[in-house]
Amino acid sequence: MAQGDHLYNTYRPPAQEFVRGEGAYLYTENGDKYLDFIAGISVNCLGHNHPAPKKALTEQADKVWHLSGMYQLTGAKKLAKKYCDALPFAEKVFFTNSGAEAIECAMKTARKFHYDNGQPERFDIITFQGAFHGRTFATINAGGNPKYLKGFGPALPGFIHLPFGDHDALKEAISDTTAAILVEPVQGEGGLRPLPAVCLRGLRELCDEKGILLIYDEVQCGAGRTGKLFAHQWAEGAEPDIMAVAKGVGGGFPMGACIATEEAAAGMVPGTHGSTYGGNPLAMAVGNAVWDEISKPEFLAQVTRVSNFLMQQFEGLKDEFPTVVDELRGKGLLCGMKLKKPAIDVRAMMLERKMLGGSAGDNVLRLAPSLIITEDHVREAIAVLRECFEEAKGLDDFEAP
Ligand SMILES: *Cc1c(COP(=O)(O)O)cnc(C)c1O
Repeated sequence: MAQGDHLYNTYRPPAQEFVRGEGAYLYTENGDKYLDFIAGISVNCLGHNHPAPKKALTEQADKVWHLSGMYQLTGAKKLAKKYCDALPFAEKVFFTNSGAEAIECAMKTARKFHYDNGQPERFDIITFQGAFHGRTFATINAGGNPKYLKGFGPALPGFIHLPFGDHDALKEAISDTTAAILVEPVQGEGGLRPLPAVCLRGLRELCDEKGILLIYDEVQCGAGRTGKLFAHQWAEGAEPDIMAVAKGVGGGFPMGACIATEEAAAGMVPGTHGSTYGGNPLAMAVGNAVWDEISKPEFLAQVTRVSNFLMQQFEGLKDEFPTVVDELRGKGLLCGMKLKKPAIDVRAMMLERKMLGGSAGDNVLRLAPSLIITEDHVREAIAVLRECFEEAKGLDDFEAP
């Protein structure tokens, strides 16, 4: 154990310590500048030290920090109205502190809906291979990744895991104990796999036909990251009944939300659910400020422009390094590539060149920069990646896991 290190050993951070951020860059104590192309894993959507949320946070800090849902939460009401005005399905919102809690609320909402409709036996939640929904007991069971379940006791009942994109398996799996289908419109951890619009629409139709609820996990792919406020909005006619958001909607302040139709949320009455910090005035001040920025049409148009440019550049890298790049992945600024060389090594090479990136399942190099990046940041990133791929070319051949 490193001397003086009393944190759980659940992460393996590099030695660099970032003490300051500005826009798309992070700085160490001695002033070294790093290009941040992971943004706290899809969180700092407005970059670092953005004036709008900073002003909202400091102004709120002068007023009141915490009240709890026992009292009127004006910031929460305002933000819930903004979400509901922007999303045709949305009528009710429950605020949380994290993505996992938003998913927990979504799953509780779905089960309660069926319970109140006289079908308490409908409690199974169907999810798909490669899914990631968080790290609480219920959300690791929802995700079904054996790596995250191992060592934590018996699997919880009520979760059904299906292969990704297998329509027949899905139709077969739905029974009179099914409560809901839970899916990420763009899989994050699983390897940046977008679900095509036709599949999302297919899920919607299937849920309607079977009388079950459709839950989207837009914790990672929402908040403007794909160039729409939420990734499912690329597919017409594929609205969910319930949606969980977090990460980007707080822009770096811990917050999330479960957003639902009035009908789905009807059973969530006093006593059924709660959260001490949910809707906290500081979080809501930031959440409102972040929303006001990311919901501007010109903001989203710039995300689309810059992500198209980025994808073009990625195409170039793929052609240039056929022994390194296997295929391009993702949507908008939740993007990357499946590599033929170990993604984890390429990430380390990027760090040496002062660029931050991430990795995901399926040996994918994951990039999720802040949404304020420009074409110049993309050029800088591509130059670093080109150097790394040049180096990676020489690595021993490698069997992707
Ligand atoms: C990060 C993430 C979560 C969990 O969010 P936390 O804030 O870490 O609890 C859930 N779903 C998806 C898709 C995520 O990317």
